[in-house]
Amino acid sequence: MDFSLSDEERAFEEAVRRFGDKVLRPNERKIDSEGRIPDLVLAEMARLGLLAMPAPTEYGGMGASAVLTEIAAEEIGRGDFSMATAVFFLLEAGWGWILGKRGTETVKRRVLPEVTAGRAFLGIATTEPTGGSDLAQMRTRSRREGDEFVVRGEKAFLSGVEEAKRLGGGHLTLTRAEAGGFNFLYIPTNSPGISTQKFENMGRMGISTGAITYDDVRVPAENLIGAEGHGFGCAMEGFSVARTFVSAACVGAAERALEIGAAYIKQRTAFGQPLAKFEGIQFELVDLFCQVEAVKWQCRRAAWLLDAYTLRGDDSHRSEVDQAVAAVKLTAPPLAFECVKRAMMWHGAAGYTKDVGLELGLRGVMSYMVGAEGGLNIMRIILGRELLGPEFLPYT
Ligand SMILES: Cc1cc2nc3c(=O)[nH]c(=O)nc-3n(C[C@H](O)[C@H](O)[C@H](O)COP(=O)(O)OP(=O)(O)OC[C@H]3O[C@@H](n4cnc5c(N)ncnc54)[C@H](O)[C@@H]3O)c2cc1C
Repeated sequence: MDFSLSDEERAFEEAVRRFGDKVLRPNERKIDSEGRIPDLVLAEMARLGLLAMPAPTEYGGMGASAVLTEIAAEEIGRGDFSMATAVFFLLEAGWGWILGKRGTETVKRRVLPEVTAGRAFLGIATTEPTGGSDLAQMRTRSRREGDEFVVRGEKAFLSGVEEAKRLGGGHLTLTRAEAGGFNFLYIPTNSPGISTQKFENMGRMGISTGAITYDDVRVPAENLIGAEGHGFGCAMEGFSVARTFVSAACVGAAERALEIGAAYIKQRTAFGQPLAKFEGIQFELVDLFCQVEAVKWQCRRAAWLLDAYTLRGDDSHRSEVDQAVAAVKLTAPPLAFECVKRAMMWHGAAGYTKDVGLELGLRGVMSYMVGAEGGLNIMRIILGRELLGPEFLPYT
């Protein structure tokens, strides 16, 4: 077993860390207050190959491994603490990979080069106003009419609705197929029949969240991802990939919080000595560091499993992959949240101010606790199914 990175991977990691330090950090407050990722940041991401980086090279991607993408997600989560850039990055990475793997040649050629160049946004649309966890109950429908699919319904809490309107692009959209099963369709946000609504979030303000209503929206049949009626599996495959990158971004955020916290407790004094000398604080830092290290490697292993099996189209280790991904998505966001919260507490009153900036991370990481890319209890349900058997699913 070899845990080391190749020279190429190490150089890439350093390049993304430099991007985080020199481009993301100086812009993170602006990203949060202005509610968008500046064009210069997206241009630099495109230059570094960070947009939809696992997409195949012939469509503008890097054909990057899950491990390399996971490394980048960690650095971006560390760089822009608000998590907005990480979300933009990981949505395009996960769903760009699915489009590259399961999309038709025409759509791959039309969409992926625009996404990898930063001229279009690519996201995912599964959640509906009536719920996001129980996807089998979704109401948005698609029916085939000749060479087109006609879509009717409503999706909600989607990341990147405004970005897809502003830059171009759209969402891979899961719909109930009238002919049976589910159709997974690429739907450009500028399609006739679409109307949108923006939600006001509490955090990760640099990427919008919104709803899309589909009023008999027509998309060409070539926009189908995977086989007709079999879209559910494609969406679940994409979630395995995207959830791994979410977890990596949370690891990066956790590391950043501990860095901010460690720097502060070394210089802040109380009762005549640095806070860092008090075991009540020092040991908390040490314990959190150990937990972050564990989750970091848990995350790296999930990415390695994706490379070894899922990304090669090998479904033979499905259960192992599902377990690894659900386990890390269950542990990484709460750990990141805890690290940010503890670092805030070490700062005392200063931690509650915007000057220190920990509140950016707290608001951003919280989005992964409440539901983005699947709620924590849904991860527990997946793990329960894997550990005990499907007959113990709570709703059967
Ligand atoms: C910032 C943000 C961005 C998002 N971006 C996207 C996006 O780009 N695309 C997209 O499709 N969706 C997106 N979502 C939605 C996300 O996928 C959903 O929030 C998630 O799937 C949960 O759905 P819900 O919010 O409707 O909660 P519900 O499904 O109503 O669940 C509510 C709560 O109950 C829990 N719960 C549900 N069922 C069970 C059960 N059987 N046992 C125990 N607990 C249960 C859930 O874990 C959750 O905590 C985003 C969400 C957020 C917060």
